[in-house]
Amino acid sequence: MSENDLLIEEILKLKKKSGALILAHYYQRLEIQKCADFVGDSFELAKRAKEAKSDLIVFCGVRFMGESAKILNPTKKVIMPRPDAGCQMADMVTVSKLREMKNTYPKAAVVCYVNSSAEIKAESDICCTSSNAVKVCESIDADEIIFVPDKNLGAYVAAKLPHKMFHLYYGYCPVHKNITLEDAMNAKKRFPDAKLFVHPECEAEVVEIADYVGSTSGIIREAENSDAKQFIIGTEYGVVERLTEYNPDKKFWLLSPKLVCINMKMTSLINLRDCLKDQFGEIDMPEELRMKAFSALDKMMRI
Ligand code: SF4
Repeated sequence: MSENDLLIEEILKLKKKSGALILAHYYQRLEIQKCADFVGDSFELAKRAKEAKSDLIVFCGVRFMGESAKILNPTKKVIMPRPDAGCQMADMVTVSKLREMKNTYPKAAVVCYVNSSAEIKAESDICCTSSNAVKVCESIDADEIIFVPDKNLGAYVAAKLPHKMFHLYYGYCPVHKNITLEDAMNAKKRFPDAKLFVHPECEAEVVEIADYVGSTSGIIREAENSDAKQFIIGTEYGVVERLTEYNPDKKFWLLSPKLVCINMKMTSLINLRDCLKDQFGEIDMPEELRMKAFSALDKMMRI
């Protein structure tokens, strides 16, 4: 038995003993995904966290995800093996910068991408994820929208809804933004028979030449259901690992080796084992903040 297999065995025993529900994002290391009760993208994980019956939720992801779980299901204890794993995009927007935008555009509704802190959610009218951003922005009763923090997702949504006016905050995911048109063209040249699937956090010129643009779950679902056999994946490496593991009859290539989120890769099996054993890394926040942030998340879940 390998060291990883032994750790996984220990984690599964501890999970059973504690009654914990382990949630993991698709960008987590594959061995972490294998320990989880449920693996999903931000939206699916938020839904699972909200519906969780277990008193203990162990969240393997980055901090805003653990926060969302606590906001949506406050009576549960939410712990993270790496509470220090942040999201660089979420950290780009501050409450004072958002308030400045709100003062500049007083008639605009604020839509915040779920990749944001509890404080930003509390300042927003509604949340969205990459899988429902168009639907959320379409559904809200406002012609003007302040979209934070991802300028690329915001621009993607704005192009789909030309009848609304968007004010985009200049934030971005450094992992996806790093991908250039040249990277994408080179990958297409190397693998001419492969379909190009990308995340809307990529730059517009990359999104424009893709065969499919969608959320992490959307990319996985589309690739699994497609008749095509080869794919260039323009999102984080964890998705390629997962698709390769569960679809041995198909070939998946990462668009560029730059597509690795160091924060998502921070959680190790040892961290997860220790967290289950000692129950450290609890996520908590003042009730007033939680209630305000809940409103934005809950409105999204109802759409
Ligand atoms: S991939 Fe980008 S958006 Fe996702 S957690 Fe990492 S830095 Fe944040």
